[in-house]
Amino acid sequence: MTQRGLLIVLSGPSGVGKGTVRKAIFEEPGIDFRYSISATTRKPRDGEVDGQDYFFVSRDEFEQKIQNGDMLEYAQYVNNYYGTPKSFIDETLASGRDVFLEIDVQGALQVKTKMPEGVYIFLTPPDLTNLRWRLEGRGTDSEEIIDQRVAAAKNEIKMMINYNYAVENDVVDNAVQRIKAIITAERLRVTRVIDQIDA
Ligand code: 5GP
Repeated sequence: MTQRGLLIVLSGPSGVGKGTVRKAIFEEPGIDFRYSISATTRKPRDGEVDGQDYFFVSRDEFEQKIQNGDMLEYAQYVNNYYGTPKSFIDETLASGRDVFLEIDVQGALQVKTKMPEGVYIFLTPPDLTNLRWRLEGRGTDSEEIIDQRVAAAKNEIKMMINYNYAVENDVVDNAVQRIKAIITAERLRVTRVIDQIDA
């Protein structure tokens, strides 16, 4: 029997640097996760590629996917839908490969209810001033949207209690090394290895 893959969920407030940390993890040697590409109704930013960064879809298409039960989770965030296609997760885990999700807090909590065996990692900003500064530095959102994102972040930080691990994103490479250490330890959990050991 193939051993099921590990589900790794990286979450945390918008602007905390989830995307940057995720990209850095995928550049690390020896990392063989499959990235779960989300669907969204948000418009692509400069340089974003459909089917690579996101599946960019219309509201109608997204709502149809919800109705069809195609979404493992979804959330509305700053007037757009974001969601995780379910079939990719099911098939990839069943084939024994590890899946990495980078999603917001509302979504991560929905996944945790359905798949509590996953590894839930909360990325924290060093502080909220820093979060605002990062969002401004990214230069992709208006002041009004940044205000909404910072307000959402304050509420989201209270949700940390629902996760297995908290990783501070002070320096990207430090956050990456912390996450790698978590995953190394998770692979060694007795519940995950016991079936492979002849005793
Ligand atoms: P952005 O618009 O900056 O790409 O993403 C906004 C927020 O949506 C980020 O916090 C990002 O992690 C989150 N997000 C991206 N994909 C998904 C998803 O599939 N589901 C949920 N719930 N959130 C997502």
